[in-house]
Amino acid sequence: MNQLDETSRLAEAPPGRRRWSRRWALWVLLVALLLGMLSTLVWLAGRYESSQVQSRLEQDVMQTATDIRGALNRNVQSFQALQASSPSPEAWRFSAIELLREHREIVRLEWRDLTLATPSFAETPYRTSVFERLGRENTQSDVSFACAAAQRFSGPAYSTSYFLPQADGLGLEVLDMCLPVSTAGRLSGYLVATYSLPDMLSELAGPKLSRGQGLAFTEADGTRLAMYGNPARGNRAYVAQHLLDLPGNTMVLRLERQVGTPALFPNLLTALVAAMSIALVAVLALLARDMRRRLKVEHDLADALAFRKAMEDSLVTGMRARDLQGRVTYVNPAFCQMVGMEAGELLKHSMPPPYWPPEQVEEYQQRQSRRLAVGATLPREGFESVFMRRDGSRFPVLIIEAPLINAVGKQTGWMSAILDVSEQRRVEELSRASQDRLQATARLATVGEMASLLSHELNQPLAAISSYATGSLNLLQSAAAGDPLPPDNEDLQLAMRRIAEQAERAGKVIKSVHDFVRRRDQVRESIAPRLLLDAVMPLVSLQARKLGVRVLIRVDESCDPVLCDRTMVEQVLLNLARNGMQAMQGLDRRDEKVLTLRVRPAASNAHSRWVEFAVIDNGQGIPEEVARQLFTPFFTTKPEGMGLGLSLCRTVIEQHGGFLGFEAVQPQGTIFTFTLPVALASALQQQAVAAIAT
Ligand code: ADP
Repeated sequence: MNQLDETSRLAEAPPGRRRWSRRWALWVLLVALLLGMLSTLVWLAGRYESSQVQSRLEQDVMQTATDIRGALNRNVQSFQALQASSPSPEAWRFSAIELLREHREIVRLEWRDLTLATPSFAETPYRTSVFERLGRENTQSDVSFACAAAQRFSGPAYSTSYFLPQADGLGLEVLDMCLPVSTAGRLSGYLVATYSLPDMLSELAGPKLSRGQGLAFTEADGTRLAMYGNPARGNRAYVAQHLLDLPGNTMVLRLERQVGTPALFPNLLTALVAAMSIALVAVLALLARDMRRRLKVEHDLADALAFRKAMEDSLVTGMRARDLQGRVTYVNPAFCQMVGMEAGELLKHSMPPPYWPPEQVEEYQQRQSRRLAVGATLPREGFESVFMRRDGSRFPVLIIEAPLINAVGKQTGWMSAILDVSEQRRVEELSRASQDRLQATARLATVGEMASLLSHELNQPLAAISSYATGSLNLLQSAAAGDPLPPDNEDLQLAMRRIAEQAERAGKVIKSVHDFVRRRDQVRESIAPRLLLDAVMPLVSLQARKLGVRVLIRVDESCDPVLCDRTMVEQVLLNLARNGMQAMQGLDRRDEKVLTLRVRPAASNAHSRWVEFAVIDNGQGIPEEVARQLFTPFFTTKPEGMGLGLSLCRTVIEQHGGFLGFEAVQPQGTIFTFTLPVALASALQQQAVAAIAT
């Protein structure tokens, strides 16, 4: 891949990756800069340290040269003192030996006359004679040069150094000093002192030399003449040189100092700077680690946020957060869609929010302040309300609210889940309508059945009326024929009364059916159980008489009134009674057919909140396979049956909050029971439900 390809590839890289590589480049740059700066700092500190050592060394060597020069001058004075009293050669020698004993750096003292002959000399007691091998006469030229110079200077003069091989195989570098001696203002001879260079170093400068230092005399070209102390080895050494300028001779004094090991951090300053640099690098490393963790957390957080957003967007439930003043602080897309408004619009809006129907604002505001007063004890099941869309249409919602608690556990507002329940309401309405239609159909079916009973029942009073009417007519005809009527028309009156009675009875029969069919008001009322039984009794008795069934009624008078839709409950009773009587049709003629209608409190104590109604027959009972489908709509075993009775009965009872069930009765028969709420208790319960809903 060539350069161009690489560039274009980078340019096309996704922004996240570009950001990532830029961040890395910055880090690398920072680390490089820091490392560069730190190493420069360490290097500079090292340099500073070296220069300090170097300058100290230079001062030392300068001081040493001064010391040596001073010592040599003092020696010259001692030599002059030696010659001052014009001693005899013997006496001179004696004093010279004394002097040599005190000055180890001098190996020989000579008294020379003007021809440079030696009337007397003395040698150091610390060594064997240094001229033993070479012979003093071989160095005569050096002496004469020095003395010629001394004569010229009229003061001490030094010869160049020369090497004297020694008896032990080694050698010694020495130099001569010639001091002109005058007697009575005239030059009378010379004093020649031979200095050993190594001893000069050790005696004149050695005591002040510190450990680890080496002192040497060298020539100008660097040739080492004498050495004292540890010579520096390798290239890690500090070196300082200074010229030792003596009359007639110039030597180089060289001071060397070995660098201590390890020499990475030569002093405290460098060590301090290095330690700080290491600390800085460590801090940088920690910072980098922290940064990496932070990046990871940031990344995880971004993931979590993306996940949360996807979740919120996929929700069909509206979500809304409000602060403690009731202002909207958050809405999800589902909520926006529900009310048909933009999120920004909802968030910016002040109180009241735009989705509150104007006519309800006051009520909602009261509700909100009530809820704020209640605090966190909100019902979990939520409450119903009505919201308004942008187009002004209203729709019912179910709102479930929970307190919004922040990270430090303080409540900052409310979070609500909002469900649009308009579709649910529509379905409920549809199912209620179809239930109503079914019930009406069932009632008509019952009425159809009743019609045949009615004709049978009406036959009797009509026949009675007819016969009383015929009898009355006969009486009137015989009266017309001349037969006198009884004086008070007793028979006629009786017949007429009977006619009226029978007509009334027939009327009642018809009215009971009429009432049953026509009455259809949905209201729930408080009604005594006995009244419910009384209402269905005429119709039950009608059928009972036809089918030869004896009806027993047992009502526990301690029962409280029940709260119910009486028409519906009457129909339930009628259905159950009719089913019971029909079930007894298959019985033997000799068996007595008894239908018992029983009412008592549902629980054993008289203050139960429920009343139990039971319809008991001693019929054929319910086989297992029939029992399984008993409440299935349109299930019937009868040729003329509709199979709707029991399923409707159960719906009705459950709508009242009660329970409908059945059991077999021993030795034969079935008991159907259902419960209804006591009026007082259910009234309280309704109040409670209403209170929670607000
Ligand atoms: P229908 O009376 O029109 O058949 P129901 O729903 O009232 O419809 O009754 C369904 C079936 O349940 C009846 O066909 C009958 O077989 C059975 N059944 C109902 N009540 C009794 C009872 N008391 N004893 C025996 N069988 C019963």
